[in-house]
Amino acid sequence: MGLTNVIKVLLIEDNIAEARLLHEVLKGATRQEFRLFHKKRLKDALDELESQVFNVILLDLTLPDSQGLDSLLPIISKNSHIPIVVLTNMNDEELALEAVRKGAQDYLVKRHITLDILVRSICYAIERKQMEEKLREANQALEKRVEERTIQLLKAQELNQLKSEFVSMLSHDFRNPLNTILLSAGLLEDSQDQLTREQQLSYFEMIRKAVQDMNQLLSEVLLLGKADSGRLKPNFIELDLKEFCQQIIHSLHLSFEDKNQILLNFEGDFQGELELWDEKLLWHILHNLLSNALKYSPLGGKIIVNIIAEEKSVTFCIRDQGIGISQESQKHLFEPFYRADNVENISGTGLGLSIVHKCVEAYDGQIFVDSQLNQGTTFTVILPRQQPLMSKIGESVEQI
Ligand code: ATP
Ligand code: MG
Repeated sequence: MGLTNVIKVLLIEDNIAEARLLHEVLKGATRQEFRLFHKKRLKDALDELESQVFNVILLDLTLPDSQGLDSLLPIISKNSHIPIVVLTNMNDEELALEAVRKGAQDYLVKRHITLDILVRSICYAIERKQMEEKLREANQALEKRVEERTIQLLKAQELNQLKSEFVSMLSHDFRNPLNTILLSAGLLEDSQDQLTREQQLSYFEMIRKAVQDMNQLLSEVLLLGKADSGRLKPNFIELDLKEFCQQIIHSLHLSFEDKNQILLNFEGDFQGELELWDEKLLWHILHNLLSNALKYSPLGGKIIVNIIAEEKSVTFCIRDQGIGISQESQKHLFEPFYRADNVENISGTGLGLSIVHKCVEAYDGQIFVDSQLNQGTTFTVILPRQQPLMSKIGESVEQI
């Protein structure tokens, strides 16, 4: 913005003769029109500044109601955008300079004022103020950017920290089965002659189990990585949900050697139809929740699975009578590698529930936990139901 056509000047000066003189001087201006408003006291000037806008202020530093630099601060604090030219006498130039340091744009020694000097000083003060404003804005924008970048940097550092924690947990969990393999292989190699056939087979079995564990761990980590980069998307296929759940439970009964009884109960509208489900996501969700229920239950504790079909969604409710999860631990359950304090010597990596969470997310579903220490835990998962495939095909046939 350049200079406006008419420059409105507020003169704050108690000496009427000097005010008149300045008025006369400004009248002589030809290239620029000035309109001068005169106030004798600081208080009146401040009132005037509340009621109208000025382009520049000419300020005498010796006023009846305020002395020296004291006049400057109240004006600047409320009108920081208006440039100020300080008017000074011969002997207080030092004070005028101090005023410029404190925020005035220029100063004039009264006796030396001529039309040229006055006009030049007013225009210079306006331009200088505009430059200052621009600089301040640029500075603010810069500060904001620095602040934003700092936040980004802190986030990146946090992420790095998380990643390195992840890697160290992972290497730890890889080392366990690796050690088993190394030890068993060493024993088989060195003491084969002393080992019975049965002992040998049991070492081979340990090796096989360790390799399976590592393989499982690797695929879980890959799945989490896929979820984090947004590549975990449902892939729907036709499935008989009832049969699918029964199969998972059957295989778990086998691997946990019937340690607990799992009671499966279906409610609502299933009608044995094939429906669209993502087999892998569903498997991860149910398998992890059910194996947790088994793992964290005492021998003989019952596990009840209710699967309730509603029009738009299916609710999976898995209730156990196991060790339970404290309120504090419930807050961290879905973090990778998190394990509660009360797991004691029950083995696990702490990845299962973070996988369940990612799979439920990918499914656009919801998961809730309700648990009491030493009483039991209930996990509830609600997944949206897809439109049956048959009706979809029907629709597209009709459209053709
Ligand atoms: P894994 O990766 O082998 O599944 P994990 O079972 O320890 O190991 P998560 O399934 O992620 O890992 O479970 C995290 C923690 O939540 C467990 O270590 C346990 O403390 C607690 N937890 C999960 N399910 C139950 C449950 N049904 N009863 C009690 N505690 C549970
Ligand atoms: Mg688990």
